[in-house]
Amino acid sequence: MPSYKAPLRDQQFVLHELLGAVDVLKQMPRYADLDVDTVNHVVEEAARFCEDILQPTNRVGDEEGCTYDPATKSVKTPTGFKEAYDAFRAAGWQGLAVDTEYGGQGLPHLLQIAFYEMQYSTNQAWAMYPGLTIGAHECLVQHGSQAQKDLYLPKMTTGQWTGTMCLTEQHCGTDLGMLRTKAEPQADGSYKLTGEKIFISSGEHDMAENIVHLVLARLPDAPQGTKGISLFIVPKFVPVGSGPEATVGARNGIHCGGLEHKMGINGNSTCQMILDGASGWLVGEPNKGLNAMFVMMNGARLGVGVQGLGITEVAYQNAVAYARDRIQGRALTGPKALEKQADHIIVHADVRRALLTARAYAEAGRAFGYWVALMADTQLSAADHEHRKFGADMMALMTPIVKAFMTDNGFQCASDCMQVFGGHGYIRANGMEQFVRDARINMIYEGTNAIQSLDLMGRKVLMDNGARLRTFGKMVAEFIEENGTNPDMNEFVTPLADIGDKVQKLTMELGMKAMANRDEVGAAAVPYLRVVGHLVYSYFWARMAKIALARVKADGDKVDPFYRHKLMVARFYFQKLLPETATLIRLARSGSATLMEMPAEAF
Ligand SMILES: Cc1cc2nc3c(=O)[nH]c(=O)nc-3n(C[C@H](O)[C@H](O)[C@H](O)COP(=O)(O)OP(=O)(O)OC[C@H]3O[C@@H](n4cnc5c(N)ncnc54)[C@H](O)[C@@H]3O)c2cc1C
Repeated sequence: MPSYKAPLRDQQFVLHELLGAVDVLKQMPRYADLDVDTVNHVVEEAARFCEDILQPTNRVGDEEGCTYDPATKSVKTPTGFKEAYDAFRAAGWQGLAVDTEYGGQGLPHLLQIAFYEMQYSTNQAWAMYPGLTIGAHECLVQHGSQAQKDLYLPKMTTGQWTGTMCLTEQHCGTDLGMLRTKAEPQADGSYKLTGEKIFISSGEHDMAENIVHLVLARLPDAPQGTKGISLFIVPKFVPVGSGPEATVGARNGIHCGGLEHKMGINGNSTCQMILDGASGWLVGEPNKGLNAMFVMMNGARLGVGVQGLGITEVAYQNAVAYARDRIQGRALTGPKALEKQADHIIVHADVRRALLTARAYAEAGRAFGYWVALMADTQLSAADHEHRKFGADMMALMTPIVKAFMTDNGFQCASDCMQVFGGHGYIRANGMEQFVRDARINMIYEGTNAIQSLDLMGRKVLMDNGARLRTFGKMVAEFIEENGTNPDMNEFVTPLADIGDKVQKLTMELGMKAMANRDEVGAAAVPYLRVVGHLVYSYFWARMAKIALARVKADGDKVDPFYRHKLMVARFYFQKLLPETATLIRLARSGSATLMEMPAEAF
């Protein structure tokens, strides 16, 4: 049975030593009173919740799954899920990063992301219920009318009502322009929605009093395609009253028609949702629904990226424990555990490769993911326009990288860590195969990773002529400039400068090719995203190495071993993981011809 301890030391390293988060946040009027103790206290309490309350529900959630009752069209969540949710709500966790205006604690999104990481390590399926509520809440904050905010936000802040996002239909997932759900205007200003949605996470469950569905649908006179999509609030129970005093009224015509039986995240209800003349209320302007929904989708993409991080961390921790305990074979350099019949498998180079790969991706992912969360806070709350724009640009550029790079790595690491268990990883008893199954969905939902790659290369890089990428490149160049002459930093700065140059050249070359043939973008986008992901991770690893080197130098023999180990992982990253970019660059440059020449009927 897997275990988990929150990586508090590394989280604090990232928050305080790497990002100097409190100093950055204190510049924002909203967080002027924030201090290090508060940040540490929140993370430690969140860790306790995840370790003590969530973690024990993970296995049972996987084994029991959710159950659907066709008679009542209701869904029962696995044993312990509701109790964990009640404890979560009672402690006020749902409102952690919500504005105090709506009854939240008004803390930074950065802390929400740190909490997400631990939730996803301990029970990803459960964490999706409150996670989707946060996304729906943010969408209403930005696009809801004042009356909608007053009615829904206080209840969603406490978690009394949960949220969903209802986009996908049987015939359209990636291409939402084809969606068919209809919304007919009514005399009282509401709409009647009719249609069928599929794959709706947390669409029906027994954990909360009401469910606030955010549904994409088409008005009768809507233009074709994505320009004709509007967004509606469709509550499970129509609310009565307003604000914290609101209660639930009549059952609305939206219900769960069945559950998907799936590969992983069994504890999350993935629902077919039937809208049968359901009452809905328009959010924002008609036909601008996709734009409003992007608030939720972008937030969810960051969350999904962090799911990749959470799984990597917990899979790593359990693989390390196993590798220290399991004896098998002798070290190639001669026996190490002479008193035993065999050595612990942690002596074997390939076992170490698997463990260090997971550790290097987890630690870089934490640094990167938390920095992106800080950019979210910067975008929303920085005092001046210039900083807010910087935050917005970095968020836009990095969102597809967080989503795709971190979840691709998460799946690979979960699989590698399962491999450390040999056959004992493949059987269910040790819980490692659950991580692999759970991690797989992260590459699919919220826009598949191929679509994220197209978004990065097409929309985020080529369409703005590389402006956002250059903004990030400027930070990298400044770091290289500052540290390039320090001989101790050479082993980190040289490969960072090299990958920076290569990304620049590759981007220009692919941009030129794309002008002549758009298929070149489709053919290159996936390896391109991975190469840019490595540029980002090289930058964060070099920064972390700099801090660790300084501490080793300053404290000598008395240095906290944490810093020596950080340097070891940094070296591993640069020598064993970054070099895959050589192949990836070749792949990205190899063009579209061999992919596109085969006639469809010949496959
Ligand atoms: C467990 C689970 C939970 C989910 N939760 C939700 C939810 O809460 N709300 C919701 O609305 N949806 C949800 N989804 C739906 C999910 O977001 C979609 O499955 C996903 O976006 C892909 O859509 P699709 O399945 O229709 O695949 P398709 O769009 O049919 O894609 C099939 C394949 O073609 C590729 N492809 C498609 N178009 C292109 C293109 N233009 N260029 C290149 N490649 C392309 C894709 O990458 C993919 O590999 C969930 C799905 C699952 C499985």
